Amino acid sequence: MISKDLLDLLACPACGVELELQGREVVCTECGRRFPIREGIPVLLVEEAEEPPELRARLDAEARALAEAQAKGNTV
Ligand SMILES: [Zn+2]
Repeated sequence: MISKDLLDLLACPACGVELELQGREVVCTECGRRFPIREGIPVLLVEEAEEPPELRARLDAEARALAEAQAKGNTV
């Protein structure tokens, strides 16, 4: 279990906003990414985070739009 004091110091690596403890994970209040806690240490890495489905869908759509723009030779 991590303390409230520690939690107050932590921020989402993607958004820089505060995190909320939910069970055995810390959850970003902005993007909803869930970060695992390993041996009492929150692992605040975007690559390790579990993305909520709505964020996943948005990132996929953005990646697709970017790929399409690049395929047309446009610069974004
Ligand atoms: Zn976030």
